[in-house]
Amino acid sequence: MKYDIIIVGGGIIGLTTAYTILKEKPDTKLLILEKEPHVAQHQTGRNSGVIHSGIYYKPGSQKAITCRGGIRLLMDFCHTYAIPTEICGKVIIAVDESELPGLHDLYERGKANGIGNLSLIDSPQLKELEPCTTGLKAIHCPETGIVDYTHVANALKNEISTLGGDIIFSANVENIQTNTHETVVFTSSGEFTCRTLINCGGLYSDKIAEMNTAEIDMKIIPFRGEYYSLKPESRYLVKNLIYPVPDPRFPFLGVHFTRRINGEIEAGPNAVLAFAREGYTKSTLNFTELFETLTYPAFWKMVKPYWRTGLGEMVRSFSKKAFVNALQKLIPDITADDLIPGGSGVRAQALANTGQLLDDFYIIQHEHTIHVLNAPSPAATASFAIAREIVGYL
Ligand SMILES: Cc1cc2nc3c(=O)[nH]c(=O)nc-3n(C[C@H](O)[C@H](O)[C@H](O)COP(=O)(O)OP(=O)(O)OC[C@H]3O[C@@H](n4cnc5c(N)ncnc54)[C@H](O)[C@@H]3O)c2cc1C
Repeated sequence: MKYDIIIVGGGIIGLTTAYTILKEKPDTKLLILEKEPHVAQHQTGRNSGVIHSGIYYKPGSQKAITCRGGIRLLMDFCHTYAIPTEICGKVIIAVDESELPGLHDLYERGKANGIGNLSLIDSPQLKELEPCTTGLKAIHCPETGIVDYTHVANALKNEISTLGGDIIFSANVENIQTNTHETVVFTSSGEFTCRTLINCGGLYSDKIAEMNTAEIDMKIIPFRGEYYSLKPESRYLVKNLIYPVPDPRFPFLGVHFTRRINGEIEAGPNAVLAFAREGYTKSTLNFTELFETLTYPAFWKMVKPYWRTGLGEMVRSFSKKAFVNALQKLIPDITADDLIPGGSGVRAQALANTGQLLDDFYIIQHEHTIHVLNAPSPAATASFAIAREIVGYL
């Protein structure tokens, strides 16, 4: 089968890219290859469901630009396809004096990123928004929202089919060969040929790039995020979204509370090294993948300065008490009895050969191939804008 474009990966980046291409160039013969039987089985279907405002990201970065641009495109899509969304707002709380400088920096960053109606609020104002919280000061960010990204992904899949795109499920990409005229993609469901290949393989994006002999200077390190759910009778503790002040050295936001669009409340996710790229439980181990991580010199460069933080996350993963302690900083009355185990997701976080966790999105282009090599949070929010960037490379 010959295609103009083959996209590897039926997560939100692959799907929005396919949708954008078919909208802009309807004659394109396009195929998505997805190894699972359905779309959104990995990061996209296992995330927190937050429409991020863009407050956290360095002004001028791809994350900041595409997050801001992506919200509008995502909301338009959801409106068109009757997908429920709610712009419910969130609070980021400084619980002690040491967190105040970080809170103020974040507020300035949010303003620099053009986030509207951002305000610094005091403790009584915080209590009006989130009565069960405690804190010295907080940022109220009304532009944050919630959505079910699996719902978005399924709507995209249907629309891609309507626009004439093909999707083949259970097609694991195993090898790629590029010559001067075309690229041949070898999968568990047969061979497919294209002019341009776009790799949106998430947790395996580096592996897929390596098949294409692209020289890459990073590896995906899988960081699992584990959630608890609040019991229905404890949901009164949280009105919307409640976050701590994040540690600016890490790309993760710290355990927080999220109201889902279906009314459930989640606490988490933490961030622990997963022992497999798709290691959704503590006991999932892929020896080859773990070995690769542990023998990657950059991994140890990263661990050296941050082992204490990593250990703390591990402790929170194994001890519900430690997890609850972290949550009690935001909501003092919450107890272990309010929480039942929830789901988990694994973040595909790129680590550069230098030992730095890549802070920004990272997309590289070779002749006839484009590889999306770092698209962690807020890439679901930003997905439609990232897709436009990718289309710009074609
Ligand atoms: C715990 C967690 C919470 C998050 N919370 C948020 C949030 O609230 N808001 C937000 O904006 N972002 C959030 N994110 C980030 C967001 O979910 C991701 O950035 C986004 O889903 C990335 O989409 P993707 O398409 O790149 O990857 P994925 O959704 O992982 O899709 C990649 C696809 O490629 C397929 N694939 C891989 N290898 C192959 C192969 N060899 N052959 C064929 N197919 C292959 C996989 O099966 C998969 O379907 C969160 C992420 C996690 C993990």
